[in-house]
Amino acid sequence: MLNKIQLHWQIFIALLLAIAFGILFPNQVDYVTWMGDVFLRALRMIIIPLIFASIVSGVTGIGSSENLGRMSLKTISYYLLTSLFAIVTGLVMVNLIKPGVGADLGLSMVVMELDVTADSFGQTLIKIIPTNIIDAMAKGDLPAIIFFAIFFGFFTTKVNARYSAPIIDFFNAVFEVMMSITMFVIKFTPLGVFAIVAGLIAEQSGNLLMVFGSLGIYMLTVIGALAIHAFITLPVLLKFLGRANPVKHARGMSVPLLTAFSTSSSSATLPLTMEAVEFKSGVSNKTTSFVLPLGATINMDGTALYQCVAVLFIAQAYGIEMGILQQIIIVITALLASIGAAGIPMAGLVIMTIILTAVGLPLEGIGLILAVDRILDMFRTAVNVWSDSCGAVIIAKSEGEVTNV
Ligand code: ASP
Repeated sequence: MLNKIQLHWQIFIALLLAIAFGILFPNQVDYVTWMGDVFLRALRMIIIPLIFASIVSGVTGIGSSENLGRMSLKTISYYLLTSLFAIVTGLVMVNLIKPGVGADLGLSMVVMELDVTADSFGQTLIKIIPTNIIDAMAKGDLPAIIFFAIFFGFFTTKVNARYSAPIIDFFNAVFEVMMSITMFVIKFTPLGVFAIVAGLIAEQSGNLLMVFGSLGIYMLTVIGALAIHAFITLPVLLKFLGRANPVKHARGMSVPLLTAFSTSSSSATLPLTMEAVEFKSGVSNKTTSFVLPLGATINMDGTALYQCVAVLFIAQAYGIEMGILQQIIIVITALLASIGAAGIPMAGLVIMTIILTAVGLPLEGIGLILAVDRILDMFRTAVNVWSDSCGAVIIAKSEGEVTNV
């Protein structure tokens, strides 16, 4: 019976049941949270071999250095462009709505337990070069793994075919196996989502009371701006730049989008995103495997937008005027900070300290928005994944691929 209901509906129903369960039986969630742990662990188990094999197979599939250069340029340009659009949308909304003006600074009594030290951008950039790839893999350091995988794939195409052929075959095979493990794990998404969301609701229900007052208006500003980006900007780009059908693509993406929303992790969702973009939207394996792992690590439209709104909300709450120059600094640092944020829950909040420091706002300001961050994380992560997937389609189309959307 359950098999007859489409997977995205199963996940949606699981989401609703989880909300009810978390509210009605907050003390019983411990009985189900293990299912969420099992699901997340299974996804994380897939990620490192999947990313490595997928990038090597993607880069070797792209072929010449010329093609690789063109693909990289397109991918990075798309990611920068959409993140900028997102930030500007956030900037306009927060300046229009001004959710922080008159906010009660007493809210900052929320205890800050975050480790708010983030690397400077320069350090982050240097760390992309792994000193030890095994160590990077063990630590799950995705930018470093991607960096090495691109190099490895690129130089594989430079050696004699006698050596490159078995390497290419091997990584293509690993990629296939990892994708079939992914398809198996996907079946358990409704159970994982149910457990994760039930636990989250039980834990966050106290914070939900905060949605009244200026924090509520702040949340609506973030969600409204994210909605404009997700439902207007990205579909318009998809339609006119990619000549694709946004509704059809969105339908195919429902499983990864609901998973991103529930897990708040674009990295953990990556296997599902790749599966949907390749098999539902019909983007080639070569494009999917190059564009998506890169996107899950560096392209975070939702995070960039959210950081911009959050920083200006804090400034407004403290009554500190942000002039045009400072707003430009916020735009640039939000872009960099979103690139540097990892695709894991609440990473965007931690790395936001870079922006606060850059414009001289008090770091304690984070305390103002901490209570509702976990909830907003769900929305921004879904937008992050949506933007990556639109990028894959647009780039595939620009390479002359025939897709399903
Ligand atoms: N949770 C987000 C993601 O994984 C990152 C963030 O905290 O904004 O995409």
